[in-house]
Amino acid sequence: MTILVTGGAGFIGSNFVLDWLSQSDEPVINLDALTYAGNRENLASLDGDARHIFVQGDICDRALIDSLLATHQPRALVHFAAESHVDRSISGPGAFMKTNVDGTFTLLEAARAYWSALDGEAKAGFRFHHVSTDEVYGSLKPSDPPFAETNPYEPNSPYSASKAASDHLVRAWHHTYGLPVVTTNCSNNYGPYHFPEKLIPLMIVNALAGKSLPVYGDGQQIRDWLYVTDHCSGIRAVLAGGRLGETYNIGGWNEKANIDIVKTVCALLDELKPSADGPYARLITYVKDRPGHDRRYAIDARKIERELGWRPAETFETGIRKTVQWYLDHPEWVARVQSGAYKDWVSKQYA
Ligand code: NAD
Repeated sequence: MTILVTGGAGFIGSNFVLDWLSQSDEPVINLDALTYAGNRENLASLDGDARHIFVQGDICDRALIDSLLATHQPRALVHFAAESHVDRSISGPGAFMKTNVDGTFTLLEAARAYWSALDGEAKAGFRFHHVSTDEVYGSLKPSDPPFAETNPYEPNSPYSASKAASDHLVRAWHHTYGLPVVTTNCSNNYGPYHFPEKLIPLMIVNALAGKSLPVYGDGQQIRDWLYVTDHCSGIRAVLAGGRLGETYNIGGWNEKANIDIVKTVCALLDELKPSADGPYARLITYVKDRPGHDRRYAIDARKIERELGWRPAETFETGIRKTVQWYLDHPEWVARVQSGAYKDWVSKQYA
């Protein structure tokens, strides 16, 4: 048996591949285009491991997907590949439509053709697992209950609109063609290998470099936070036992305002790597808010807890400490990502 993962060199995808192969000998075919967000160095510990087959390629390339499915006969396709950064989606939405919408459509069509030709147990067991975000549900008011799976979709950014579109395609391919799909909508992840354009790693690397810590608007935007390996265990649980055609919200019951996240990161750095120039919070700088910035996301994770017995292993306090420590322990990874040298690292390693 084999699984095909897309986007497995990105932040969550690489954590998923590492986590998967730490618990199972089932091989992973890892298809990733290696955009700016894909970093093969995240998977360096798997070099020489026959259970991991890396393929550089685009999810919009139908012929490539067909050939990977025909060659490796996976029992599941776990789809992470996406353009994922909201700010980039505002300045350049085209890439988001291409990868998140067209790419998901291409994968669905290829998976449908592959699955239709299977029979018996292989056909019954096949799964298309679509990895999505809580941002599709829009923005909550302070008094609103957290997002349940039944919430209407109200995406507000080009990123969340493209993910919402992909969720709808996945749903339609199940209802129209019977493709055996499951979808997970997860809250904000954090942890190792997070590209430092996102809030938590940006704050850590800027603070260590003595640079300003930019906080949008009043910093009171609320997000739910989940340690990345808890997201991975949630995906494994849904892949193994989720009901076909269903969506499962995954979240950590950790609603935090952005400014409190930044202050927590500063306090941990003050403890673990104090600066001679004084507390890191001195670097906090409020900047003009992002256009259309959603105010609050929160996840009601009771469905996955009740049906599949999933629970996060980390609290926010344990997860954020591990995360800050990981960045302190991996300055070379950070330096290579910041300088762009991680692309050279790949060509040197795999030339
Ligand atoms: P990421 O940007 O770190 O990684 C995306 C990966 O996809 C990269 O390795 C990139 O090279 C690859 N990719 C991009 N376009 C591709 C294409 N056309 N063909 C093949 N590969 C391509 O993203 P992430 O944060 O790891 O998110 C992974 C998935 O999880 C996304 O679908 C995202 O919407 C979803 N998600 C993310 C979060 C979060 O907090 N980061 C939360 C919930 C859901």
